[in-house]
Amino acid sequence: MTSVPNIKEEQIRPKHLFDRFLELTTRDAIELSKSGRFENVDCVACGARGKDLFEKHSFRYQECPECLTIFASPRPTRGALSDFYEKSESAKYWDRLL
Ligand SMILES: [Zn+2]
Repeated sequence: MTSVPNIKEEQIRPKHLFDRFLELTTRDAIELSKSGRFENVDCVACGARGKDLFEKHSFRYQECPECLTIFASPRPTRGALSDFYEKSESAKYWDRLL
């Protein structure tokens, strides 16, 4: 049996760096929500129509009554997500850290 080193999460993902990432992500998500580049979708797992569940950072989440999957709808279009991961401040910050 091999032993697993006793590594703390702080050593892998220092809190102050991750807190900054979460701050940028929250800001970017709110900006993305203002873009108008959204589409309504049905359950991403089985295709059933979802029911509103909650809202967080300007995104609405639904739960599928058939398979209980939770998903965002409306969700950003493919192009909006591509731009987000390429151009958002949180993505650039993460790229600089890695
Ligand atoms: Zn479903």
